[in-house]
Amino acid sequence: MHEFLSPRTIALAVVLIALTTGALLLVSARQNSDQKSLATWGVANILGGIGVCIVALRGFVPDIFSIVIGNALIILSYSLNAKGTLDFCHRKVGWAWVAAPAGLWLALSFWPAFISSVEWRLIVGSAFVTAASFTAAFALWTLKDEHLVTRKPAAFWLFCHGCIFVIRMIPPLLSTVPASSEITASPLVTLIMVESLVHITLISFLQLSLIKDRAEERYRRVAETDVLTGQPNRRAFMERADKLVRESDHWPACMLVIDVDRFKSINDSVGHAGGDAVLVKVAETIRAHLRPTDTFGRIGGEEFAALLPNTTLQSAAVLAEGLRARIAGLAIHAAGETVHVSISIGVSAVAGGKPDLDHLIDRADACLYEAKRTGRNRVVAREDGMRLAG
Ligand code: GH3
Ligand code: MG
Ligand code: MG
Repeated sequence: MHEFLSPRTIALAVVLIALTTGALLLVSARQNSDQKSLATWGVANILGGIGVCIVALRGFVPDIFSIVIGNALIILSYSLNAKGTLDFCHRKVGWAWVAAPAGLWLALSFWPAFISSVEWRLIVGSAFVTAASFTAAFALWTLKDEHLVTRKPAAFWLFCHGCIFVIRMIPPLLSTVPASSEITASPLVTLIMVESLVHITLISFLQLSLIKDRAEERYRRVAETDVLTGQPNRRAFMERADKLVRESDHWPACMLVIDVDRFKSINDSVGHAGGDAVLVKVAETIRAHLRPTDTFGRIGGEEFAALLPNTTLQSAAVLAEGLRARIAGLAIHAAGETVHVSISIGVSAVAGGKPDLDHLIDRADACLYEAKRTGRNRVVAREDGMRLAG
């Protein structure tokens, strides 16, 4: 058992895993050329693998290689790994910061008191690993505005890995560690090396997974966004609105269906591209008029919808009237002309019971139809059976 788990055997496994995962990350980097982190992580693993290999050759190669160069490569590998993660999190980090820890290690190696002290080497080396791991963990933990399933598990693991190296600093701080010309076979060393094996395997898997999460998030956003206006499309609106009406803590809620008046004639006068520009401006104005908690989307050609949670029919009618007036007051520049538009709005409300989104939209649509029929550029709001404003 002891033979099987000799430090050199585990070191060999660490080297093989680091090189294999490094190569895998580099292959993946070629396929995802917009994700620079993959290449950085790949190179980090390969340098780390070479570093561990040199450290494990202790006794066979001069100490200058195994202690100084081998560990410098491992430290550089950690810094590079952290840089890859920081890049992934859109945080800029200069190459000087990446090179600094390994450079400091090399500089310290010229100091005989440092190089002959196993304790200080362990403390300084572990401090670099901890700093790199905590930095990467923090960057991932605080990454906002992206729904990445792997983000928190990866941050948590990096934090744990950093903590393990904090613990690693305790024995050399408390007592002297016997110097040896071999890599030591103490249970602690074995444990740390097994942990490294787990770390490299796990972190590489998590890194590939982060990239996959980001790609999926991008596809999801594209699938939910209307190409012309950049607002949520019909599908996204329906999904979000459906979720909202099912959750009773948003009641009373109101549905607004908004349609641009006589849009065909706008297209006729300024052309289709001009009409597009008008739609973009109208969509922007509606979104700006709504509250951040309101769900909004383009549900048809020149038709928009908004679901206002925790809003009475009275307040929704006031908001809709403000919106109508705001759009009517716009002077939109499209195709070299100044265009004036108006909108008609139908408003329906859900007070409780078992609200059905389609029913809510149908009722708002009926109000919209009435607004069109009775002259356009107006708001019609109605609770079931009760007309409120017109
Ligand atoms: P109403 O007041 O009754 O709503 O009149 P309208 O002309 O707005 O109604 P209608 O629904 O008959 O016409 C809508 C027009 O909107 C028809 C279509 O060509 C145009 N349209 C739909 N989608 C787009 C788009 O993405 N860009 C542009 N430029 N026009 C669009
Ligand atoms: Mg219209
Ligand atoms: Mg229409």
